[in-house]
Amino acid sequence: MICPTRPPVSGGVGVPAAPDALASVEPRGNTNLTVISYGGGVQSTALCVLATQGVLGVDVAVFANVGDRAENPQTLAYLTRFIPWAAERGLEVVERRWVDRTGKVRDLYDDTMSETRRSIDIPVWMAGGAPGNRKCTGNYKIAVVGRELKARGATSASPATVMVGISTDEYQRANRRHAQPWEIPTYPLLELGMSRQDCANLIERAGLPVPPKSSCWFCPLQGARGWAKKRRDDPDTFAAGVVLEDRINETRVRLGRDRVSLAVGGQPLADLPAAEPALFGDEAFNGGGCDEGYCWT
Ligand code: SF4
Repeated sequence: MICPTRPPVSGGVGVPAAPDALASVEPRGNTNLTVISYGGGVQSTALCVLATQGVLGVDVAVFANVGDRAENPQTLAYLTRFIPWAAERGLEVVERRWVDRTGKVRDLYDDTMSETRRSIDIPVWMAGGAPGNRKCTGNYKIAVVGRELKARGATSASPATVMVGISTDEYQRANRRHAQPWEIPTYPLLELGMSRQDCANLIERAGLPVPPKSSCWFCPLQGARGWAKKRRDDPDTFAAGVVLEDRINETRVRLGRDRVSLAVGGQPLADLPAAEPALFGDEAFNGGGCDEGYCWT
């Protein structure tokens, strides 16, 4: 929660008119455990910086790693610097992963590449253009954070306060639709009136580089535009995406199912037009501008 002895951060641009979103901020958790849901992106890094500055009272920040082969490598590199930086300033940042019932540490990339899986967890684009089911966020992130909260004593009778990094430019994402009984989400950046740019400025003033966008490198929600950028700026990662898409489709064809795309409905990655498309349907629908990645966590 916001420390009552500290003034709000200056430079906020004010929260756009959104009475429903603002109403969802209150009441904040009334618990003994306050956690930052740390995604590694700009907004949740700003929450951590605020915690190190005493603006937010926080017990721990939890980063749910979906797998070293799945996360944006730049995000993982950033963490190797950021975690010690935060620890030196009194904030513990813990990294947690999905460990299944057999004791296996799951990696979303390996699971998506698996030839034996009958279902796909990531939200691939179906031939007709609709997004497929998204199980990855729930299994690899929300449940992982939830287990950590429960391990630290959160229950439905005494839920943890979970701070989520949503800035004023994306206030519409602030809702409790995905809240579990043992957590109460709060949105300190909205309360402080901080935009994404305010967050970036805060991070830089703290002496840190602004973190890269945090999401799985192969996330289908980056849409055709994200993949076009990858093909231009990071051809090796683009090529790895083509291999992943081929593997998914080999498995689907074997199971008698239709082909899917990592970019946009029915269009194989390899056949994407060379030009970077303007922002259009898929990204607008899926929050392509979300700087915490595409998970909405
Ligand atoms: S970034 Fe995309 S693929 Fe990765 S867990 Fe989130 S929704 Fe799934």
